[in-house]
Amino acid sequence: MLNEGLGSWSARRARTSPERVAVVHEGAALTYAELHARVLRLAWALRGLGVRTGDRVAYLGGNHPALLETLLACGTVGAVFVPLNTRLATPELDTIVRDCAPALLFHGGDHTGPAAELRAAGAVPQLVRVAGTAERGEDDRAGTAPAGATAPAYEELIAAHEPEPLDAPVGLDDVCMIMYTSGTTGRPKGAMLTHGNITWNCVNVLLDVDITADEVTLVTAPMFHTAALNMTCLPTLLKGARVVIAPRFDPDLTLDLIESEGVTWMFGVPAMFNALSAAPRWAEADLSSIRILEAGGAPVPDTTIATYQKRGLTFLQGYGMTETAPGVLFLGAADAVRKAGSAGRPSFFTDARVVRPDLTPADPHEPGEIVVRGPNVMLGYWGRGAGTPSSHTTDGWFRTGDVAVTDEDGYVRIVDRVKDMYISGGENVYPAEVENVLHEHPDIADCAVIGVPDDRWGEVGHAVVVLSERAGATADDLADHCRRHLAGYKVPKSFAFADALPRNASGKLLKQRLRHTL
Ligand code: ATP
Ligand code: MG
Repeated sequence: MLNEGLGSWSARRARTSPERVAVVHEGAALTYAELHARVLRLAWALRGLGVRTGDRVAYLGGNHPALLETLLACGTVGAVFVPLNTRLATPELDTIVRDCAPALLFHGGDHTGPAAELRAAGAVPQLVRVAGTAERGEDDRAGTAPAGATAPAYEELIAAHEPEPLDAPVGLDDVCMIMYTSGTTGRPKGAMLTHGNITWNCVNVLLDVDITADEVTLVTAPMFHTAALNMTCLPTLLKGARVVIAPRFDPDLTLDLIESEGVTWMFGVPAMFNALSAAPRWAEADLSSIRILEAGGAPVPDTTIATYQKRGLTFLQGYGMTETAPGVLFLGAADAVRKAGSAGRPSFFTDARVVRPDLTPADPHEPGEIVVRGPNVMLGYWGRGAGTPSSHTTDGWFRTGDVAVTDEDGYVRIVDRVKDMYISGGENVYPAEVENVLHEHPDIADCAVIGVPDDRWGEVGHAVVVLSERAGATADDLADHCRRHLAGYKVPKSFAFADALPRNASGKLLKQRLRHTL
């Protein structure tokens, strides 16, 4: 095969396990042979629409098999897949789409409006409408209604082409996807992930998580995000196991699918697992098929670990980022309690260490920046010096911008972002530590701490707090609470009360915006 990348995966799977089920969605199953035939038809359709090697193809839609098919078809013709965050507002999408300049935009039924606006504004020349990707259950029958007069529909494109072999030369160093970061610390950046980056991340997952060909992997998190797509869907397909796609995260639907499909592996962020265990049906749901629960994006709270332990379930945890395709650290279930709060140790083929500003390794328990090296680290940011990882890499180490500490056994705990740290009277303060203490106060629903200039101390902490309904804590009460749990220099010097905090489409706090509103 000329194709070394993801585009060859469905062909290789169709050769080795054609009859096994690859994808289940809304009760319908596709075998690997069927998936491969659809991918080939779609690849020819991309060619027919003028997509050439290196062209970008963007995808704006909810969880649906078409997202995987489009990715694999892009890989087949050597095009670059760009998944877009469906929660972004149209002006935010416009900025991203203009940055990567796709030849085509695939969009789901729920995203017809923004897609048409992007086309009308000249941000994208052509649309393809994928039916049945409605996120809120709207009636949206297969491929019948075009978005705008000229948009071809997905199923019609597939039906119009034959599943003829298409063996284009695609190498592991060619770009497979441009994935945009969440935009927590600034404008989203387009991380160029090669076929090799994605493949090595999947190999890391197969080794760390130890999945088998009998896995039934439930995907409820958004598939445009690196965690759902690269940590669960793609390793499952590489292994020849089964992906069950839930159109959206809903606790009751998730419990139903676990039971009806016999789910063995599920990934989520801690908030999803909390919502699941709060569902009325949680107590009587049959969870006996589950073998692996994996959480990422933030440390899993002790209370969540305890709730699931009562059901005989433990969590795998991890730390990663869009730029590393994404896995960096991995914490096995056996360590979940013993190393609670830690994100684990480096994945098998990835190296990570905590360093001082001069890049020498920090001592155990000494905070420093976590840096990463390995075959999963991106090629660079799109449009910011092609192929150059630029200022984000020093001596081959990718600078994550996250502060971490290592313990004497080599387990790493993520502390905060370097950008969010401030220095008060010569002491480093990590706002995440102060926020954790504030969150323990019963009156606090949400909070953020930022460093602000101060004549005497250089910088001091300023807390912005959202109180729970009918809660009456004052600034003095909150300062007292902090003083009981924190050294004096960490206690915020001022408190402001707000109705809500600014968050991005991934739910992450936008501290820059808070700084600007001061
Ligand atoms: P941007 O780079 O645009 O500012 P972002 O960094 O939030 O956005 P992502 O790539 O989606 O974009 O998120 C990666 C970041 O998420 C990491 O750099 C880290 O700050 C945080 N993170 C990921 N996993 C964990 C974890 N287990 N514990 C704590 N933080 C985590
Ligand atoms: Mg980032």
